[in-house]
Amino acid sequence: MKCRILVCILLSALLLGGACLPALADGDPYAAYPFPVNQSLQGKTVILDPGHCQGSGGAYADYVEHVHVLRIAELLKTDLENCGATVVMTRTDATKQHNLMRMCLSNSVALGMVRGVKEAAGAADDVAEIDRLLALMASIRQDESLVPTYFNSPYDYSHTRVIHPDLKKIFEYESDPVVAENLLFVSLHTNAPGSSDTSISGCITYCLNNSWSDSRNYYTAYSHVERSKRFARLMGEQVAAAADYRNRGVSVNDFFMLREHNIPAALVEAGYHTNATDRAKLMDEVYKKRIANGVAYAIVEYFTGSSAPSGGETLPEETQDDRVTSSVYRVSSQGVSGVPLGTDAAALLGNLSSQDYELRLTDAAGQPKAQGGVVTGDVLCAYAQEELKGQFPIVLYGDINGDGQIALLDLLMLQKHLLGTAALNGAYLRAADVNHDSRAALLDLLVIQKYLLGTGTITQ
Ligand SMILES: [Zn+2]
Repeated sequence: MKCRILVCILLSALLLGGACLPALADGDPYAAYPFPVNQSLQGKTVILDPGHCQGSGGAYADYVEHVHVLRIAELLKTDLENCGATVVMTRTDATKQHNLMRMCLSNSVALGMVRGVKEAAGAADDVAEIDRLLALMASIRQDESLVPTYFNSPYDYSHTRVIHPDLKKIFEYESDPVVAENLLFVSLHTNAPGSSDTSISGCITYCLNNSWSDSRNYYTAYSHVERSKRFARLMGEQVAAAADYRNRGVSVNDFFMLREHNIPAALVEAGYHTNATDRAKLMDEVYKKRIANGVAYAIVEYFTGSSAPSGGETLPEETQDDRVTSSVYRVSSQGVSGVPLGTDAAALLGNLSSQDYELRLTDAAGQPKAQGGVVTGDVLCAYAQEELKGQFPIVLYGDINGDGQIALLDLLMLQKHLLGTAALNGAYLRAADVNHDSRAALLDLLVIQKYLLGTGTITQ
């Protein structure tokens, strides 16, 4: 079909980017992947740690890890700031710096938050002590030679090192709820396997665990491990969905950027740069934006704690409704679904029955509809003695604009909804839940994209 081919070309340009694909008409490679602008992260601070720097970290073929993760962090920073978050970057360029300098920075951010609480409470002793610890962090940042005194660096593989009392104090201050509830540390990396196997691909996230490998951690009272684990899980799910990666799950590790502070934290290995497919994505601007959005959605979900993150929302629960029955379709309090695209109105009515009511179909404007293709927004009406007793909107999954088809316009309508610029309601919102998880969210957008590209299906 001509129209199908056009959609494919347009979507390829929108979604895949890359040198071999035509540029977008408006010149904005991110037009297809905007992030909601709202205040969902107001009052929250996110420390973004783009891994490595000049002279350190993964290089493979023409790929340099620190360059690409910094770009993802920049895109992510914009997403988060658009949601009202304060973002602190552990580095903004490739300049070489000692890894533990980043930990001095993150500890300083957390201490600053606790200091505000203590000062407001008039706890002068705590404020003085925090000021001393802040000065200590600042001095280490000035003098790299102090690093081994305070941090587990170089890493003690015998696992006998005892945490420095000042760092322990910092960790104890960081167990304050102000940190737990308002601060998050995110480290961005890309992966290479221990072997030379270039077939390994996908996304892994890491977090700490107080009991990891028989307490090899040199500190075992991290107060945020459950939060960190939850965030790591969310980040893995969202990044895998956003970049179309296999999600390889959450692993436990005591990487320095997870262990040298007591802040909720997780690390993402957002693909394997040793795998040709992953690497092509990681080097692509649009995929970088998709990965950034995935992390951002996970951060919003982590902080808002609602089941309605991802710029989306949980749909009203469906309950059984026995007034109308069908052996072909699903009928619930929320309407009629399970209707194949292209179903004729007469055929629809023929597959529905009611003991007590006469069933008629109307269009969204309330006009009788005895024939013609059924679309999202049509309404099955149940009458008793010419009195309207019940209404069941028709839901065709993916037909979000109510024209009976699944096309680019449907994708754009869901996108606008997620961005908050044009809200979907009722049957149209339900039609957007194409993956049937009772949410209209980013993942649905991805399912529609795949459908339009011919690489995925939408079930009714
Ligand atoms: Zn790395």
